[in-house]
Formats: sequence, C-alpha cells, structure tokens
Amino acid sequence: MLTKPTITGDLLRANVLRVFDVPPWLLHHPKLDFSVFRYMQHSGTTTVAPLFLSRLVECYSTHHHKYTNGSKTASLTGCGLYVEQLNVRQSITINPYASLFSAELYGILRALYCVVTYSIPKALIITDSLSALQTINSRCWTSHIFVTKIVLLSSTLIKAGREIAFMWVPGHRGVPGNEIADSLARLATSTNRHQDVSQIRLKTVNTCVSYAVICQHLRDHFDNVWNTQYQSDPKGTSYKAVFPRRRKEDLGLAHADTVSLFRLRTGHCKLNLHLFRLGLHQDGLCDACHTPETVAHFLLVCPQYHAQRAILLAKLRKIGVTANTADILRNPGASCLVQHFVDATNRTL
Ligand SMILES: [Zn+2]
Repeated sequence: MLTKPTITGDLLRANVLRVFDVPPWLLHHPKLDFSVFRYMQHSGTTTVAPLFLSRLVECYSTHHHKYTNGSKTASLTGCGLYVEQLNVRQSITINPYASLFSAELYGILRALYCVVTYSIPKALIITDSLSALQTINSRCWTSHIFVTKIVLLSSTLIKAGREIAFMWVPGHRGVPGNEIADSLARLATSTNRHQDVSQIRLKTVNTCVSYAVICQHLRDHFDNVWNTQYQSDPKGTSYKAVFPRRRKEDLGLAHADTVSLFRLRTGHCKLNLHLFRLGLHQDGLCDACHTPETVAHFLLVCPQYHAQRAILLAKLRKIGVTANTADILRNPGASCLVQHFVDATNRTL
C-alpha cells in the first residue's frame, strides 16, 4: 500500500543539481529497453501490443508502469502521464514555445517526480518518443536541460536503491496505457481542457525552453517586424513585386544559377537595356527585334526564343505559375525552370 510520500533531501536535491555537480563517470544509468523497437525492425511487423504486454509480465511485473506522451498544437504544448497501478492521470500544459521533443522529455521527468512523490521502489517509464530515449541513452546529458534533469534524478534514485527503467513502445498501436497517456497529452493542448476531466489532474507549469527554440522565435519575431516595415514602405514597388518578403531563400540552385536568377529579378543583368545604362551597348535594343531588351522582353516576348519559351510556359502552367514576369521570378518553384530557359537560349546573364 503506497502512502503519501516523504521526500528525502537527497531526492529533492537531484532536481536542483547543476550540470557539473556530478562527474559523468559517477552517474548511475537507468536501464533502457528497446526490445520492441528491435523486434519491429527485424520482423517488419507493426502489431506489437501482444509482445509488449507479454514483456511487461515477463520482465516488469513488479514495476509501476508509467506511460508518458507529449503533444503540441500551434498555440499549446503539453504532456500526459498515466500510472497504471495508482490510476494517476496527469495532464500538464507547459510553456507554449517548447518543442514537442521538450514535451516528451518533460512527461518523462514528471514520471520520475512521481517516483519520488510516491516513494515507488521499481518504476518502468514507457514512452513512444524514440528520440527522447535515444538522447537519454546517448549520454549527451547536457544537450537539453530536461535530459540533464532526467539523467541526474535517475542516477540519484538508483543510488538510493530504486530500480528505474525506460522502455519504448510505438504510438497508436493499441497499447492501452499509451493510448491513455496520448489522450491526456492531447487534453493538455486542448482549448476545452476544463471540461469533463474528473479523475484527471490538470496542471500548468511554466517550464523553460531550449536555447535553439528561443533563437528561432527571436528570428521569427524580428523577421515579422522587418517584413511589416518593408511591406508598408511605399518605395520599391517593382522590387517588392519580385521579392514580396525580406527573407533568405534556398532555391536549391547552384551558386552560378542563383546569381543569374538574382540578376534577372533585379534587372541588373547582361541584357542589352541594362548594358546600355552602363554605357556598354550602343542603344539597348534587342538585336533581333529592335525594341528595348528588358527582362520581360527576354522572358516572354522576343520571337528568337519562341521554341525555348514554349517549353518554359508549358512547365510553368503545370505548377500553376502564370505568364507574368513578376509571378515567374518571385515563385521559388519556377526558379529551376527559368534557369533551364536561360541555358537553352545560350545567353549569359
Ligand atoms: Zn527581341
């Protein structure tokens, strides 16, 4: 019979240990069970619920089984924890900026807190996050703050005589505990989480987020600020027709092709009109039809490239790009096709 826990100083301390308080060679590592994963790899089957349940009986019948799961939506992040023997059901909303990986790790961390809180002697923590368990197993225990806490707390618990093991099961494969943890995690990221939640403990924790996530959010924020100012500026209308957003693009082209496309977009290329502006051409007119050789003329009008243009326009139609200079040049999907057209005309831009 489990009673309300007494939290010892050592176990509490594990939660506030700093990264280098314990050298790695003195840590006690938990058992990580990837047997279901290996079975799936070798057999090719995805029906593993019976195998998993028989392994629970065979190897972990005296352990408490704690199922954890993470969930993330556009505006919320959370995790679920279900402890089978105690019927503990927790639905925890964490920092909305945290990643799904962080949510999975935080669910595992909450399961360890539960081991401390209820003085559980043997615990098996079951998750469907392979990446979370592989990171814990990789011994890169300073790579993420939750990984550090999981490794340190596990070590302290094992040193105190507890048995801690982690096991992977695939998600959505009919493992009952995993399905319950999954629904608890989804409840944590649901906007109606206050409805119909008897027997479920709802909790909100303002967890920290990783450095990489903070950097990404800062980049997105300042990118939006920059773009708002860029769009509201009345200057540069023709430039903005080709570059609607201030953002680096990876067009998947070779460097020379990217340069060529950029020249077409800005009009600063080796077509006769621009050469004339630089004083390098006598009149800026097209050699074939004696009208100003602009980018639009080169791409869509000049009859000497009629055959190459027919191929270009047919391919553009397939990807839904209209025969309009700005539309062609600003569409990343068209960049390769434009480059093929330039190559086919034997022009150097
Ligand atoms: Zn022409």
